[in-house]
Amino acid sequence: MERTKKFIEEKSKEIGIDLSKTEINLFYSYMQNLLEWNKKVNLTAITDEKDIIIKHFIDSIIINKEIEGNTMLDIGSGAGFPGIPLKIINNKMNVVLLDAINKKVTFMNDTINKLDLKNIIAIHGRAEDYAHDDNYREKFDIVISRAVSNMTTLVEYMLPFVSVGGKCLCLKGPSVQEELDSARNAIKILGGKIDKVCEYTVENNERTLIIISKEKNTEQIYPRKQGKPLKEPLR
Ligand code: SAM
Repeated sequence: MERTKKFIEEKSKEIGIDLSKTEINLFYSYMQNLLEWNKKVNLTAITDEKDIIIKHFIDSIIINKEIEGNTMLDIGSGAGFPGIPLKIINNKMNVVLLDAINKKVTFMNDTINKLDLKNIIAIHGRAEDYAHDDNYREKFDIVISRAVSNMTTLVEYMLPFVSVGGKCLCLKGPSVQEELDSARNAIKILGGKIDKVCEYTVENNERTLIIISKEKNTEQIYPRKQGKPLKEPLR
């Protein structure tokens, strides 16, 4: 247990993040709960403790310097990545985690309760539906997403939730250029603008963070109804 906690502390330090004792304990409890639940529910293919720390925790918090504002939505959060690790280190932030699969949402809410995190909730449903709910539409400073869809589909899910002046943070693997090029028009249609593309590595894994700023309100017709953003991406 102490060695694992030390590993969390060291790996975070390597990326310039000094975790407090409380935060280290929260990451450790999160990992225990994930491993426990993963015996019954398929939440992650990654089960080695060090791999969870690198590929889920560090991969989530490495983009922390781009987090600003008070409200964040994580779309397709799955077992809570990157939303829960970012909440652990930004404890004043109001966070909503959204996923279409109910058992993942139940796991996230159980984790939130066990870790006693405040001002964070996991909700069940699809981005295409919640984006038309006035309580969520254009209400977030940051909308974040990892491993959910191709860029064109993803921006149709994400941009309707971002308030004007806010940002979308898309966590991607390597070689995003082609994907990004085909999403350019969709980004414009939805009121966004590519702000920057950052390439970095997490323990030899090539990663890309695409940041899109929201310049104008998104037209009410977007996102289109369930399934359309994926089957007929905007061109
Ligand atoms: N973000 C997590 C991570 O990086 O570990 C989970 C990634 S998992 C590959 C993709 C998740 O996105 C799934 O849990 C799926 O249910 C969710 N998802 C896909 N499309 C969605 C949509 N339109 N609305 C809400 N959730 C969606």
